[in-house]
Amino acid sequence: MEDLRRAVRDLCLQFDDAYWQRLDEAREYPEAFVDALTRGGYLACLVPEAYGGPGLGIAEACVILEEINRSGANSAACHAQMYTMGTILRHGSDEQKARYLPAIARGELRLQAFAVTEPDAGSDTTSIQTSAEKRGDRYVVSGQKVFISRVQHSDLMVLLARTTPRDQIAKRTDGLSVFLVDLRTVGDTIRVRPTRTMINHESNEVFFDGMEIPADSLVGEEGRGFHYILAGMNAERILLASESVGDGLYFIDRAAEYANSRQVFGRPIGQNQGIQFPIADAYMEIRAAAAMRDAAAEAFDGGQTRGAEPNMAKYLASRAAWKAANVAMDTFGGWGMASEYGLERKFRESRLYLVAPVANNLVLSHVAQHVLGLPRSF
Ligand SMILES: Cc1cc2nc3c(=O)[nH]c(=O)nc-3n(C[C@H](O)[C@H](O)[C@H](O)COP(=O)(O)OP(=O)(O)OC[C@H]3O[C@@H](n4cnc5c(N)ncnc54)[C@H](O)[C@@H]3O)c2cc1C
Repeated sequence: MEDLRRAVRDLCLQFDDAYWQRLDEAREYPEAFVDALTRGGYLACLVPEAYGGPGLGIAEACVILEEINRSGANSAACHAQMYTMGTILRHGSDEQKARYLPAIARGELRLQAFAVTEPDAGSDTTSIQTSAEKRGDRYVVSGQKVFISRVQHSDLMVLLARTTPRDQIAKRTDGLSVFLVDLRTVGDTIRVRPTRTMINHESNEVFFDGMEIPADSLVGEEGRGFHYILAGMNAERILLASESVGDGLYFIDRAAEYANSRQVFGRPIGQNQGIQFPIADAYMEIRAAAAMRDAAAEAFDGGQTRGAEPNMAKYLASRAAWKAANVAMDTFGGWGMASEYGLERKFRESRLYLVAPVANNLVLSHVAQHVLGLPRSF
């Protein structure tokens, strides 16, 4: 594990603050960085050996993403390449696995777009309206998604769409299906409009204007899509918790370094307990979140499928990172706001994980209901 950590750290050293700063200002995709990670095989780490990947566990994937974010880089540009293929692996046909997974393992295919959220269905996934209607050997997809990341840098997209109208289903989790869409073949039946956000994150509105896809784009059984998406969420939660742990450690590294070097009133500011205590406090919270993340990763690699630990890891890590972000900002005084220091960019980036891929309130309700047995609140 330490070798892996060191190797990722060395790779990230090639992409310094100035690189990320320049992309942030220009709102550009970190193509060179993503290429380097792909060539190193890191984004394919979870693809099993049977499909040409290294078949590493989620614990190793956590180390990779943690180190990327600790270095000051931003995994969000490509993290989905690691785990979105899990939907094919778990629920795809043998033919789909053979067609796509080896190419993903070789780094020749990008599957890093994942389309679930809609204007009226964010936290409430079962309210999605985008429809996929079967017509002969095709499905015809109509509707709109929002916040679909990396579509313009992906060959394939996992799509959740409604195959049975809402008024014809017994349970609200029924009637949804997952499709693997080959974005290279859909032409102008799909329209993509970028959404500018407070971070350099390639996110888009996606409009489906009667997009036709072959019937064999369906993954698994029709109507089981919500359960398939849910099954993929545990890996995503654990991996994104790792990015938050990495962000948190980035802030602590930077704050401690600055607190040691910045002299005010003739002594390092870190000599003041008002500066050093919050850094120590934030550091301990990150370590605690990392321990929860490790427990979740170990359980996941051991075959556990329940959502409690992955959700708790994501919640604790995102909050610990956000706390550390604010502590680092306080430590840097006015200079925290100066873009050249890189801190304000990371500050913005780390904020995302309080709300995505699941808003932290929804984690609280998951734990309240499913762990503590409290009444369902919605
Ligand atoms: C940069 C970015 C990238 C994203 N990338 C993707 C992507 O690639 N693919 C994709 O499908 N989605 C993506 N998302 C969407 C993301 O998953 C949603 O934003 C998230 O699930 C929250 O949905 P929402 O924004 O609609 O908030 P809403 O569901 O409208 O919720 C708004 C607020 O109300 C709170 N809330 C709602 N219901 C309750 C309740 N019952 N009790 C208490 N509080 C409640 C929520 O916690 C939240 O704080 C992305 C989002 C962002 C910002």
